[in-house]
Amino acid sequence: MNLILMGLPGAGKGTQAEKINEKYNIPHISTGDMFRLAIKEGTDLGKKAKEYMDQGELVPDEVTIGIVRERLGKDDCKNGFLLDGFPRTIAQAEALQDLLQDMDQSIDYVLHVDVPEEKLVERLTGRRICPTCGATYHVVYNPPKEDGVCDKDGSQLIQRDDDKADTVKTRLSVNMEQTKPLLDFYEDRGYLVTVNGDKDIDEVFQDIQSKIEK
Ligand SMILES: [Zn+2]
Repeated sequence: MNLILMGLPGAGKGTQAEKINEKYNIPHISTGDMFRLAIKEGTDLGKKAKEYMDQGELVPDEVTIGIVRERLGKDDCKNGFLLDGFPRTIAQAEALQDLLQDMDQSIDYVLHVDVPEEKLVERLTGRRICPTCGATYHVVYNPPKEDGVCDKDGSQLIQRDDDKADTVKTRLSVNMEQTKPLLDFYEDRGYLVTVNGDKDIDEVFQDIQSKIEK
């Protein structure tokens, strides 16, 4: 089964990806992991990607697509794959269509884990971190026993700048702008499956299963 996973930060993609990986025995391939592997293996494309990354530049599509091609050709993808974080643009989505066609394959589903924006803001801004031991909490979903204090060592918990409301809202709106055209692209081609991500983890996974096993 060839899947693409989409959703905004905080939608719970990572958790669902783990469950999909366990249940269907297909590798969860994130863009970052793919680049790290190519660099570690020292492939020509990996070396090229590293040059761009070392200079703080975006890796051009032709290199990225080549790395995707190499990754999808590996043995562990014989049952399929779960792509996460790729494609990011319409140009990449079109290149992926061509690449899969070359491999006599196609996408089965594009899974969109959909969570209302205000819920995402709540999830993302509620994170608290212990500066001493690194433990993470959430004011709603995983609160410490005493407000604002680490259970393990009694330190005052902090909120990272990345988790502050303004930063979170900006990050979400940038992501939404990038994601919308891709969702439309896949909807037009009949691949898009949307699941409501505003439920508990197991319920979301059940919805995913019932939709992709149809
Ligand atoms: Zn602590």
